[in-house]
Amino acid sequence: MRTGKAWRIALVGNPNSGKTTLFNAITGAHHKVGNYAGVTVDIRQGRTEINGQPVVIYDLPGIYSLTAYSQDEIIARDFIIDERPDAIINVVDATNIERNLYLCLQLQELGIPLVVALNVCDQAENMGIVIDTGLLSQLLKVPVQPTAANRKRGVKELLAHLPAVVGQWGQVRAPVYYGGEIEAEITRIARLLSEKTDLAGRIPLRWLAVKLLEKDSDAAAKLRRYPGAGGIFPEVGRHIRHIEAHFGNYAEIIISEQRYAAVHGIVREAVRQPAGTGRPTLTQRIDSVLLHRFWGLPIFLVALWAVFQITFGLGRYPVAWLDRLFAGLGNWLVASMSPGIWQSLLVDGVIGGVGSVLSFVPLIVLLFLLISLLEDSGYMSRAAFIMDRFLHAFGLHGQSFLPMIIGFGCSVPAVMATRTLRSRKDRILSKLSLTFISCGAKLPVYTLLAAAFFPDRAGNVVMSVYLIGVAMALLSSIVLKKFVFKGLSTPFVMELPPYRRPTAKGIAWHVWDKTCHYFRKAATVILAASILVWLLTTFPVSEPTAEQIAGLHRQFAAEHPEATEADWQSCLAGYRQEQALANSAAGRLGQALAPVFAPLGFNWKIGVAAITGVSAKEVIVSTLGVLYRAGDNGDTEGGLVAVLRSDPEFTPVTAYGLMLYTLLSFPCLATLSAIRAEIGGGWLLFSMGYNLGLAWLVCWLSYQLGSAWF
Ligand code: GDP
Ligand code: MG
Repeated sequence: MRTGKAWRIALVGNPNSGKTTLFNAITGAHHKVGNYAGVTVDIRQGRTEINGQPVVIYDLPGIYSLTAYSQDEIIARDFIIDERPDAIINVVDATNIERNLYLCLQLQELGIPLVVALNVCDQAENMGIVIDTGLLSQLLKVPVQPTAANRKRGVKELLAHLPAVVGQWGQVRAPVYYGGEIEAEITRIARLLSEKTDLAGRIPLRWLAVKLLEKDSDAAAKLRRYPGAGGIFPEVGRHIRHIEAHFGNYAEIIISEQRYAAVHGIVREAVRQPAGTGRPTLTQRIDSVLLHRFWGLPIFLVALWAVFQITFGLGRYPVAWLDRLFAGLGNWLVASMSPGIWQSLLVDGVIGGVGSVLSFVPLIVLLFLLISLLEDSGYMSRAAFIMDRFLHAFGLHGQSFLPMIIGFGCSVPAVMATRTLRSRKDRILSKLSLTFISCGAKLPVYTLLAAAFFPDRAGNVVMSVYLIGVAMALLSSIVLKKFVFKGLSTPFVMELPPYRRPTAKGIAWHVWDKTCHYFRKAATVILAASILVWLLTTFPVSEPTAEQIAGLHRQFAAEHPEATEADWQSCLAGYRQEQALANSAAGRLGQALAPVFAPLGFNWKIGVAAITGVSAKEVIVSTLGVLYRAGDNGDTEGGLVAVLRSDPEFTPVTAYGLMLYTLLSFPCLATLSAIRAEIGGGWLLFSMGYNLGLAWLVCWLSYQLGSAWF
């Protein structure tokens, strides 16, 4: 047992078993993201104390087994073996105990000090599942503590079990018995391992022997690094052939069947499931409607539609208030500061840029609130299930849809979520398609443009962009699969968690997390980009020549014979501003790129916004805010929306084109670097070129069709 140092305790369990909930219950949700073994992995880390002993808790990715099929499994397994936590809390979903214990037995085989948190007990009770915890603990030979993490029930008791197990590595207390034939092979390989390597102190050799018989390529690759281990492989090969000849099936299948059988036995002993002949559970009854063969998809679309209607229906009022607030702030600064470069920086740069983005906070909060409700109730998994059925028709499978659902929030975690896919090609494919999903950062762009150009149909217009994104993701999966990643498919069983009543706390936490993220982004990336764009639009400073002014005056006098001196002054001021902008660095850049964007109907200002949007998608909004000088336009009602509408080059067709461009062109820097870390620079370049080409093509089509029709 370590003393003095903090204990390192890892939470391990199936996805959705409540690890993160338990993590938050234990640590009070002060999490931190850590990096391990060269991969940037989202392993949350938090602290607590047990009787004065400091403890660090790690929230590992959710996994179903310790086979090295998915990257999540490898990450979790490597963490356990390489980082050697002092103990593990295995979070087991009591409503799905059989599948969860499959992992528990594998953890046991690794010889890790273990405590089982029998979570979601509240719901198991409601479902009529009776678990004899004492007997279960005896059979597994580890402490078992019932918990309801979402209500913090049993958490203190759970932690109280830890001191007894901490540091007890290497004791495989309840090994799975694989049957005489296989056991003999395991023993032989384990003996070889102990003779030829010095691994004995580090990992249970029995476990490694089982892994080798299971043809675990990751374990084999790691073993190969040991000098002298080479001679073991031919021996293992012989044993595998022997087993396969004996049973007439693959060794890995026989071994996993034995494990399932062991789990099944334990469950039969210690768990009484409700009689299957009784009334269908509530979840089954709800599913018979929501997962209906024909109505499932339409119901999902209606749910999505309702989300957008509510978001925009309710959200537009607070957005208008905030817009007015920032306009007022801009006016006040104009009135109270002396005109000059600093006033312009604050009013045009900061308020015009960051203020434009911040006015959309209410929409973000609403959208995330509704999506969290769908997620926490369990409906989002159904959406993936429905999509799965739909995708099968195209030879795809719905597991790639799960990362997409995460992608509606933010693409960075979605890119990481593709790790659960089993083949590398599938992972690359789903990352490429992910970039077409509308993340939360694209929403302000859609909202601004929809509010300005489609005020009566904002919800429908934005939903259409979302759907086009999903359609493009599917379409590109189908095409890429046909031409680039030929003939691959991995079997996958979709699992459906039971419906759960979302807790107010859980929802509040999600929304708060997302909102904070948005504010942080506004204060960092968006602020920096706004100031940069302001610099580019302000310098170099230029003044119209006397001749230009005289020419303008003649033209003005001819066109407006009864204009007053004040009218002329305001016309002149507008002209000065336009000239200064056109001659600034941003203006020149925009004009140089005009030929690229002209076929899409984008004027140079929109082109500049499209480019700066690479830093973060919201920056498209803040750039438009700075370029159109939204900050000092406070006298017009409605801030940026009104300014955009008054530009004759900015039509509804252009606005829709810019939405499509935002949707389809390559994602923000953070996502790009996540993609690079996962699949490397070569694929990243391919992905960027693919996105850009497709975005250009679709925008061009939309502009041509739009201009012809409207
Ligand atoms: P993870 O994937 O293992 O991290 O699981 P989460 O912590 O995200 O939990 C998944 C869902 O289960 C969330 O909606 C939680 O609110 C819910 N949940 C977690 N623990 C419990 C529990 O003990 N009882 C019930 N009824 N729900 C729970
Ligand atoms: Mg989690």
